[in-house]
Amino acid sequence: MTQIEIIPCKVCGDKSSGVHYGVITCEGCKGFFRRSQSSVVNYQCPRNKQCVVDRVNRNRCQYCRLQKCLKLGMSRDGE
Ligand SMILES: [Zn+2]
Ligand SMILES: [Zn+2]
Repeated sequence: MTQIEIIPCKVCGDKSSGVHYGVITCEGCKGFFRRSQSSVVNYQCPRNKQCVVDRVNRNRCQYCRLQKCLKLGMSRDGE
Protein backbone atom coordinates (compact mmCIF):
# COMPACT_ATOMS: atom_id res chain seq x y z
CA MET A 1 0.00 0.00 0.00
CA THR A 2 2.86 2.40 0.60
CA GLN A 3 3.87 2.55 -3.04
CA ILE A 4 0.48 2.76 -4.61
CA GLU A 5 0.54 6.54 -4.82
CA ILE A 6 3.25 6.56 -7.44
CA ILE A 7 1.49 4.15 -9.75
CA PRO A 8 -0.19 6.11 -12.52
CA CYS A 9 -3.85 5.76 -13.29
CA LYS A 10 -4.29 3.12 -15.97
CA VAL A 11 -6.89 5.20 -17.73
CA CYS A 12 -5.42 8.69 -17.86
CA GLY A 13 -1.96 8.52 -16.34
CA ASP A 14 -2.70 10.84 -13.46
CA LYS A 15 -1.60 9.86 -9.98
CA SER A 16 -3.69 6.92 -8.92
CA SER A 17 -5.36 6.58 -5.58
CA GLY A 18 -5.61 2.82 -5.50
CA VAL A 19 -7.63 0.07 -7.07
CA HIS A 20 -11.13 1.08 -8.03
CA TYR A 21 -13.58 -1.24 -9.76
CA GLY A 22 -10.74 -3.68 -10.28
CA VAL A 23 -8.29 -1.29 -11.94
CA ILE A 24 -5.73 1.15 -10.61
CA THR A 25 -7.19 4.57 -11.29
CA CYS A 26 -7.21 8.11 -10.02
CA GLU A 27 -10.07 9.66 -8.10
CA GLY A 28 -11.26 11.40 -11.25
CA CYS A 29 -11.60 8.22 -13.25
CA LYS A 30 -13.12 6.41 -10.31
CA GLY A 31 -15.80 9.06 -10.02
CA PHE A 32 -16.31 9.14 -13.75
CA PHE A 33 -16.80 5.40 -13.93
CA ARG A 34 -19.16 5.40 -10.98
CA ARG A 35 -21.28 8.09 -12.60
CA SER A 36 -21.30 6.23 -15.86
CA GLN A 37 -22.65 3.14 -14.13
CA SER A 38 -25.14 4.73 -11.79
CA SER A 39 -27.30 6.53 -14.28
CA VAL A 40 -28.52 6.06 -17.77
CA VAL A 41 -25.78 7.42 -19.95
CA ASN A 42 -25.45 7.44 -23.66
CA TYR A 43 -22.11 8.96 -24.45
CA GLN A 44 -21.31 9.82 -28.02
CA CYS A 45 -17.89 10.32 -29.49
CA PRO A 46 -17.78 13.48 -31.58
CA ARG A 47 -14.80 12.19 -33.50
CA ASN A 48 -13.73 8.73 -34.60
CA LYS A 49 -13.79 6.89 -31.26
CA GLN A 50 -10.05 7.06 -31.06
CA CYS A 51 -9.66 10.04 -28.78
CA VAL A 52 -6.59 10.31 -26.63
CA VAL A 53 -7.46 9.74 -23.00
CA ASP A 54 -4.84 11.23 -20.75
CA ARG A 55 -4.67 13.56 -17.82
CA VAL A 56 -5.11 16.64 -19.99
CA ASN A 57 -7.68 15.32 -22.44
CA ARG A 58 -9.69 12.91 -20.30
CA ASN A 59 -12.68 15.22 -20.03
CA ARG A 60 -12.95 15.90 -23.73
CA CYS A 61 -14.68 12.70 -24.68
CA GLN A 62 -16.67 10.72 -22.17
CA TYR A 63 -17.34 8.01 -24.69
CA CYS A 64 -13.69 7.18 -25.26
CA ARG A 65 -12.89 7.55 -21.58
CA LEU A 66 -15.54 5.02 -20.69
CA GLN A 67 -14.43 2.69 -23.45
CA LYS A 68 -10.93 2.80 -22.09
CA CYS A 69 -12.19 2.08 -18.58
CA LEU A 70 -14.08 -0.94 -19.85
CA LYS A 71 -11.21 -2.15 -21.97
CA LEU A 72 -8.94 -2.08 -18.97
CA GLY A 73 -11.39 -4.31 -17.19
CA MET A 74 -13.15 -1.89 -14.90
CA SER A 75 -16.31 -3.41 -13.58
CA ARG A 76 -19.09 -2.26 -11.35
CA ASP A 77 -18.60 -5.47 -9.39
CA GLY A 78 -14.89 -4.91 -8.96
CA GLU A 79 -14.98 -2.76 -5.86
ZN1 LIG B 1 -7.45 8.63 -14.24
ZN1 LIG C 1 -13.97 10.05 -28.46
